[in-house]
Amino acid sequence: MMSINTVMVEKYRNNFLREVEANVEEGEWVKMCMQCGVCAGSCPLGDAWEHPPQEIFMMIRAGKREDVLTSDSMWMCTSCYNCIVRCPRELPITHIMHGLAHYARRLGIQPKNNPTQWFCDVFWNNMMKKGRVNELKLGLSLYFKNGFLSGIKESLKNAGLGLNMVKARRMSPMDFFGGHGVKDISGLQKMIKKAQELEADRIDRHGG
Ligand code: SF4
Ligand code: SF4
Repeated sequence: MMSINTVMVEKYRNNFLREVEANVEEGEWVKMCMQCGVCAGSCPLGDAWEHPPQEIFMMIRAGKREDVLTSDSMWMCTSCYNCIVRCPRELPITHIMHGLAHYARRLGIQPKNNPTQWFCDVFWNNMMKKGRVNELKLGLSLYFKNGFLSGIKESLKNAGLGLNMVKARRMSPMDFFGGHGVKDISGLQKMIKKAQELEADRIDRHGG
Protein backbone atom coordinates (compact mmCIF):
# COMPACT_ATOMS: atom_id res chain seq x y z
CA MET A 1 0.00 0.00 0.00
CA MET A 2 1.34 3.47 -0.95
CA SER A 3 2.06 5.97 1.85
CA ILE A 4 0.28 9.34 1.90
CA ASN A 5 3.57 11.02 0.96
CA THR A 6 3.99 8.78 -2.11
CA VAL A 7 0.42 9.52 -3.17
CA MET A 8 1.03 13.28 -2.81
CA VAL A 9 4.29 13.07 -4.78
CA GLU A 10 2.55 11.08 -7.56
CA LYS A 11 -0.31 13.59 -7.60
CA TYR A 12 1.94 16.62 -8.02
CA ARG A 13 4.63 15.06 -10.20
CA ASN A 14 4.67 17.04 -13.45
CA ASN A 15 4.16 14.46 -16.14
CA PHE A 16 4.34 17.02 -18.91
CA LEU A 17 7.80 18.24 -17.86
CA ARG A 18 8.97 14.63 -17.89
CA GLU A 19 7.35 14.09 -21.28
CA VAL A 20 9.20 17.15 -22.65
CA GLU A 21 12.48 15.94 -21.15
CA ALA A 22 12.04 12.55 -22.80
CA ASN A 23 10.74 13.61 -26.21
CA VAL A 24 11.81 17.15 -27.08
CA GLU A 25 15.24 18.12 -28.36
CA GLU A 26 17.17 19.70 -25.44
CA GLY A 27 13.97 19.39 -23.34
CA GLU A 28 15.98 18.38 -20.28
CA TRP A 29 17.09 22.05 -20.02
CA VAL A 30 13.60 23.43 -19.36
CA LYS A 31 13.81 22.89 -15.59
CA MET A 32 16.96 25.08 -15.48
CA CYS A 33 15.00 28.24 -16.45
CA MET A 34 14.92 30.75 -13.59
CA GLN A 35 12.21 32.92 -15.17
CA CYS A 36 14.38 36.04 -15.38
CA GLY A 37 12.65 37.17 -18.60
CA VAL A 38 15.84 38.08 -20.47
CA CYS A 39 14.91 35.81 -23.40
CA ALA A 40 11.43 37.30 -23.73
CA GLY A 41 12.93 40.82 -23.64
CA SER A 42 15.59 39.91 -26.22
CA CYS A 43 13.31 38.19 -28.72
CA PRO A 44 12.69 40.55 -31.65
CA LEU A 45 9.29 38.97 -32.22
CA GLY A 46 8.35 38.09 -28.67
CA ASP A 47 5.80 40.91 -28.35
CA ALA A 48 3.88 39.54 -31.32
CA TRP A 49 3.60 36.04 -29.87
CA GLU A 50 1.02 34.71 -27.53
CA HIS A 51 3.72 33.04 -25.40
CA PRO A 52 7.39 34.13 -25.50
CA PRO A 53 9.97 31.45 -24.53
CA GLN A 54 10.02 32.30 -20.81
CA GLU A 55 6.26 31.81 -20.64
CA ILE A 56 6.38 28.55 -22.61
CA PHE A 57 8.91 27.15 -20.12
CA MET A 58 6.77 28.26 -17.19
CA MET A 59 3.71 26.62 -18.77
CA ILE A 60 5.61 23.36 -19.27
CA ARG A 61 6.53 23.32 -15.61
CA ALA A 62 2.91 24.11 -14.72
CA GLY A 63 1.81 21.05 -16.73
CA LYS A 64 -0.16 23.01 -19.37
CA ARG A 65 0.36 20.37 -22.04
CA GLU A 66 -2.39 21.30 -24.48
CA ASP A 67 -1.79 25.07 -24.27
CA VAL A 68 1.90 24.57 -25.03
CA LEU A 69 1.64 22.01 -27.81
CA THR A 70 -1.15 23.80 -29.66
CA SER A 71 0.51 27.23 -29.34
CA ASP A 72 1.83 28.79 -32.54
CA SER A 73 4.56 30.67 -30.67
CA MET A 74 7.25 28.00 -31.22
CA TRP A 75 6.51 28.10 -34.93
CA MET A 76 7.35 31.82 -35.08
CA CYS A 77 10.95 31.47 -33.89
CA THR A 78 13.29 32.82 -36.57
CA SER A 79 16.44 31.19 -35.11
CA CYS A 80 18.09 34.56 -34.57
CA TYR A 81 19.81 33.19 -31.42
CA ASN A 82 19.44 36.49 -29.51
CA CYS A 83 17.91 34.62 -26.58
CA ILE A 84 20.62 31.95 -26.41
CA VAL A 85 23.51 34.40 -26.25
CA ARG A 86 21.82 36.34 -23.44
CA CYS A 87 20.33 33.61 -21.24
CA PRO A 88 22.24 33.67 -17.93
CA ARG A 89 21.55 29.95 -17.52
CA GLU A 90 22.75 29.19 -21.08
CA LEU A 91 19.60 27.34 -22.05
CA PRO A 92 19.53 26.28 -25.74
CA ILE A 93 16.24 28.16 -26.11
CA THR A 94 16.10 28.18 -29.91
CA HIS A 95 16.54 24.41 -30.08
CA ILE A 96 13.93 23.82 -27.40
CA MET A 97 11.42 26.02 -29.28
CA HIS A 98 12.00 24.13 -32.53
CA GLY A 99 11.99 20.83 -30.63
CA LEU A 100 8.57 21.64 -29.16
CA ALA A 101 7.18 22.55 -32.60
CA HIS A 102 8.60 19.31 -34.02
CA TYR A 103 7.15 17.25 -31.18
CA ALA A 104 3.69 18.84 -31.59
CA ARG A 105 3.84 18.00 -35.26
CA ARG A 106 4.84 14.39 -34.58
CA LEU A 107 1.79 14.14 -32.31
CA GLY A 108 -0.39 15.77 -35.00
CA ILE A 109 -1.62 18.52 -32.65
CA GLN A 110 0.26 21.51 -34.03
CA PRO A 111 -1.85 24.65 -34.66
CA LYS A 112 -3.90 24.51 -37.82
CA ASN A 113 -3.29 26.94 -40.72
CA ASN A 114 0.23 27.47 -39.52
CA PRO A 115 2.08 29.53 -42.18
CA THR A 116 5.53 28.43 -40.99
CA GLN A 117 4.74 24.75 -41.32
CA TRP A 118 3.14 25.35 -44.70
CA PHE A 119 6.27 27.16 -45.93
CA CYS A 120 8.56 24.41 -44.54
CA ASP A 121 6.61 21.75 -46.43
CA VAL A 122 6.64 23.73 -49.69
CA PHE A 123 10.37 24.47 -49.33
CA TRP A 124 11.21 20.83 -48.53
CA ASN A 125 9.16 19.38 -51.42
CA ASN A 126 10.65 21.94 -53.82
CA MET A 127 14.21 21.12 -52.72
CA MET A 128 13.69 17.33 -52.75
CA LYS A 129 12.66 17.29 -56.44
CA LYS A 130 16.11 18.21 -57.76
CA GLY A 131 18.30 18.58 -54.71
CA ARG A 132 18.33 22.36 -55.09
CA VAL A 133 15.70 24.98 -54.47
CA ASN A 134 13.98 26.40 -57.53
CA GLU A 135 13.36 29.99 -56.41
CA LEU A 136 10.89 30.69 -59.18
CA LYS A 137 8.64 27.77 -58.24
CA LEU A 138 9.01 28.55 -54.56
CA GLY A 139 7.97 32.18 -55.17
CA LEU A 140 5.02 31.14 -57.31
CA SER A 141 3.86 28.64 -54.65
CA LEU A 142 3.83 31.53 -52.18
CA TYR A 143 2.02 33.94 -54.48
CA PHE A 144 -0.66 31.42 -55.48
CA LYS A 145 -1.21 30.19 -51.93
CA ASN A 146 -4.46 32.17 -51.63
CA GLY A 147 -5.91 31.35 -55.04
CA PHE A 148 -5.41 32.10 -58.72
CA LEU A 149 -6.47 35.76 -58.85
CA SER A 150 -4.52 36.72 -55.77
CA GLY A 151 -1.52 34.86 -57.26
CA ILE A 152 -1.68 36.83 -60.50
CA LYS A 153 -1.90 40.12 -58.59
CA GLU A 154 1.05 39.21 -56.35
CA SER A 155 3.14 38.00 -59.30
CA LEU A 156 2.56 41.22 -61.26
CA LYS A 157 3.29 43.32 -58.19
CA ASN A 158 6.65 41.58 -57.73
CA ALA A 159 7.60 41.11 -61.39
CA GLY A 160 10.21 43.89 -61.13
CA LEU A 161 11.77 42.25 -58.11
CA GLY A 162 12.00 38.94 -59.99
CA LEU A 163 13.71 40.61 -62.95
CA ASN A 164 16.18 42.36 -60.65
CA MET A 165 16.96 39.02 -59.03
CA VAL A 166 17.69 37.50 -62.42
CA LYS A 167 19.90 40.51 -63.33
CA ALA A 168 21.76 40.21 -60.02
CA ARG A 169 22.10 36.45 -60.63
CA ARG A 170 20.14 35.64 -57.49
CA MET A 171 17.65 33.74 -59.66
CA SER A 172 18.59 31.81 -62.77
CA PRO A 173 16.67 32.09 -66.08
CA MET A 174 17.03 28.26 -66.03
CA ASP A 175 14.45 28.28 -63.21
CA PHE A 176 11.83 29.04 -65.87
CA PHE A 177 12.67 25.67 -67.47
CA GLY A 178 12.78 23.55 -64.32
CA GLY A 179 16.03 24.81 -62.83
CA HIS A 180 19.34 23.17 -62.01
CA GLY A 181 19.59 20.02 -59.96
CA VAL A 182 22.28 17.91 -58.32
CA LYS A 183 23.93 15.23 -60.47
CA ASP A 184 22.71 12.20 -58.56
CA ILE A 185 19.23 13.16 -57.39
CA SER A 186 18.07 9.57 -56.83
CA GLY A 187 21.20 8.95 -54.69
CA LEU A 188 20.39 12.05 -52.64
CA GLN A 189 16.76 11.01 -52.21
CA LYS A 190 17.82 7.51 -51.06
CA MET A 191 20.26 9.03 -48.58
CA ILE A 192 17.58 11.35 -47.11
CA LYS A 193 15.07 8.47 -46.94
CA LYS A 194 17.58 6.35 -45.03
CA ALA A 195 18.31 9.23 -42.64
CA GLN A 196 14.56 9.66 -42.02
CA GLU A 197 14.18 5.92 -41.30
CA LEU A 198 17.09 6.01 -38.84
CA GLU A 199 15.61 9.09 -37.12
CA ALA A 200 12.15 7.49 -36.88
CA ASP A 201 13.75 4.35 -35.43
CA ARG A 202 15.73 6.41 -32.89
CA ILE A 203 12.57 8.25 -31.82
CA ASP A 204 10.69 4.94 -31.44
CA ARG A 205 13.42 3.55 -29.22
CA HIS A 206 14.44 6.57 -27.16
CA GLY A 207 11.91 9.37 -27.78
CA GLY A 208 13.02 12.94 -28.62
S1 SF4 B 1 16.74 33.99 -20.27
FE1 SF4 B 1 17.06 31.84 -19.74
S2 SF4 B 1 16.73 31.72 -17.51
FE2 SF4 B 1 15.88 33.69 -18.19
S3 SF4 B 1 13.68 33.27 -18.58
FE3 SF4 B 1 14.76 32.97 -20.51
S4 SF4 B 1 15.28 30.76 -20.57
FE4 SF4 B 1 14.75 31.30 -18.47
S1 SF4 C 1 15.95 32.46 -31.48
FE1 SF4 C 1 13.71 32.45 -31.62
S2 SF4 C 1 13.01 32.59 -29.48
FE2 SF4 C 1 15.16 33.18 -29.53
S3 SF4 C 1 15.17 35.42 -29.70
FE3 SF4 C 1 15.30 34.60 -31.78
S4 SF4 C 1 13.19 34.43 -32.51
FE4 SF4 C 1 13.10 34.70 -30.29
